[in-house]
Amino acid sequence: MSLYVVPAPAQPSLPVVGTSARFPVRRIFCVGRNYAEHSREMGHDPTREAPFFFCKPADALTLDGATLPFPTATHDLHFEGELVVALSRGGADIAEADAPGHVFGYAPGNDLTRRDLQSAAKAAGRPWDMAKGFDSSAVCGPVVPVSAVGHLEGQSLRTFVNGALRQETPLAAMIWPVAAIIAHLSRLVELQPGDLIYTGTPAGVGALSPGDRCRVAVTGLGEVSIALTGGSV
Ligand code: MN
Repeated sequence: MSLYVVPAPAQPSLPVVGTSARFPVRRIFCVGRNYAEHSREMGHDPTREAPFFFCKPADALTLDGATLPFPTATHDLHFEGELVVALSRGGADIAEADAPGHVFGYAPGNDLTRRDLQSAAKAAGRPWDMAKGFDSSAVCGPVVPVSAVGHLEGQSLRTFVNGALRQETPLAAMIWPVAAIIAHLSRLVELQPGDLIYTGTPAGVGALSPGDRCRVAVTGLGEVSIALTGGSV
């Protein structure tokens, strides 16, 4: 007799550069408005308010090289190129100074967003889940361990659509750097090994269409690429 009454879900995981062992993904947290220019393009004042977070389901994880059907229920699918942090150690109330010791590694990511549903949710004061946490919405490349790349400082993030540069920023332009994000989030939930944190997108977000290819590259980390097939738009 099986242990479960329905089939148990598979463990979502990411490849790790330099080993055949994989990074098991537990939860996916995302930071909103973490670059001033993007905050302004979304109609907000990037004053130094506390960072805020939303989540995607772990099984929304989508790996490098995926070909995806254009998502349902949107006419305005946006790319958001982001640095993703993969945690090796959990904890609550993590001090900013200790936060780097909780990081296993980093990856390039793409926080796919149904912008039309997000705008409607914002206007109605409703949750963002269906705008942010839909199937295949958490695009993430292979994880590069800190032991190989160190803690990122001077690197840049770039997003390309069909080869054209659409987003470019130094990671240093984040309003809340990685250590501060970990410290803040660990006061809201007890973090766990396997958690991912998407650290926010810079200015230049825009729509994707069926047939588009979108690639996010972070210097030192490589890149993550997806292709969208046609679908009902
Ligand atoms: Mn985002």
